[in-house]
Amino acid sequence: MIEGYRRFRNGGWALQRERWAQLAEGQSPRVMVIACSDSRSEPSQIFDTNPGEIFVVRNVAALVPPFETTPGRHGVSAALEFAVQFLGVGEIVVMGHGLCGGCHAALHRSMAGAEPGRGGFVADWIAMLDEASDKVRSTYADIETREAAHAMELAAVRVSLDNLGTFPCIQEKVRRGTLKLRGAFFTIGDGVLHVMDETTGEFSPA
Ligand SMILES: [Zn+2]
Repeated sequence: MIEGYRRFRNGGWALQRERWAQLAEGQSPRVMVIACSDSRSEPSQIFDTNPGEIFVVRNVAALVPPFETTPGRHGVSAALEFAVQFLGVGEIVVMGHGLCGGCHAALHRSMAGAEPGRGGFVADWIAMLDEASDKVRSTYADIETREAAHAMELAAVRVSLDNLGTFPCIQEKVRRGTLKLRGAFFTIGDGVLHVMDETTGEFSPA
């Protein structure tokens, strides 16, 4: 890790010294990306962005919970609120990915009933995909297939997009045309980004 840091410090950082000096004054990213914590789905790498360009939240399965005011630590909601209301991003991209462990667990309910700290936190988090998972389970006779897993991964992106729409501040900006919500999906093996068509909800290579 430290060797990597030294390469960055002597390479990327040194090359973009002026940009970093500007960024020290503040940030004004135009896009927020919600991605999975999976080590293979790194937004700044996939979109080849510069420092300060994208505001990123990563969590298990790239999920956005619905607007909720129940007690709890609403990390995603806090980041959304900050990006939308204070930074004024013009776009929110939800990027799912292939071979997602969180989506696999949602489809197979493999963590159901686990204690917190032994899979329970994951189970509780991905339970927001239960309805979508039920649909995939009823559509595919064999949920072990790659097709079923893929359907679950795309469904998860749609759930997050739907949940984004439950936030009043997001609804308002989308209605005014100052904020766009986009779905995307990154296949791991062949490294292809798929983008969701707003009207059909279908994904196709960018
Ligand atoms: Zn994942």
